[in-house]
Amino acid sequence: MAASRDAESLERRQTRLDDQCSRQAASRDAESPQQTRTRIDGQRSRQGASRAAKSPEQRQTRFGDQRARQASSRDAESSEQRQTRLGSLRARQAASRDAESPEQTRTRIDDQRARQAASRTVEIPEQRRTRSEDQRRQQAASRAVHWTFMEGEAFRYDPAKNYDSHPQLHIGQMTDVCSFCDALKWPGEAPGMRCSGGKVRLPALRPPPEPLKSLMSGTTSQSKHFLYIFH
Ligand SMILES: [Zn+2]
Repeated sequence: MAASRDAESLERRQTRLDDQCSRQAASRDAESPQQTRTRIDGQRSRQGASRAAKSPEQRQTRFGDQRARQASSRDAESSEQRQTRLGSLRARQAASRDAESPEQTRTRIDDQRARQAASRTVEIPEQRRTRSEDQRRQQAASRAVHWTFMEGEAFRYDPAKNYDSHPQLHIGQMTDVCSFCDALKWPGEAPGMRCSGGKVRLPALRPPPEPLKSLMSGTTSQSKHFLYIFH
């Protein structure tokens, strides 16, 4: 098979891969959720076994090949193909999860954690780097989604717009009082923020030394002027 693939023309290879792709897609669409799970489990244990048998150099090579293949196949994909691939992946995952019993959900999540832990212990440094970079990119992208309406806004600043009143930018007043340390908080702050739910206790502030103490008192005209300037 390897020799016959080496001899195949680019066009033939593309046709063969396209055929394979549509056959696989058709067969996956016809699967029951149970069949999907069984297929994926089988695939994972085969992959796991074959990975465990490999040396670090082999793993390095496989990893490089895999990234190159994925990159080239995704580069060649039209945006419609990409949508279709991701859509059908999501639909299969959702269907398979909907069909799960609570016990199966727990097992799936436990398995997933164990697989992640196992795959991290055999990671080569490059994989670890790539994984954390991918993760950072995904997190940044998912955060950025909420802010696309502000993209480039700093470059077209419009003084007539009241930016602070936008519902996504307006965080209200510090009207909440922490039940642990009496600090003033914004309504959106989680109860554990700042003093970590009462775990962090700072010593009380000591009275300021003179002349600062009198200036802070607000009782003399000099002090009133001082406070006015600092507010
Ligand atoms: Zn607090």
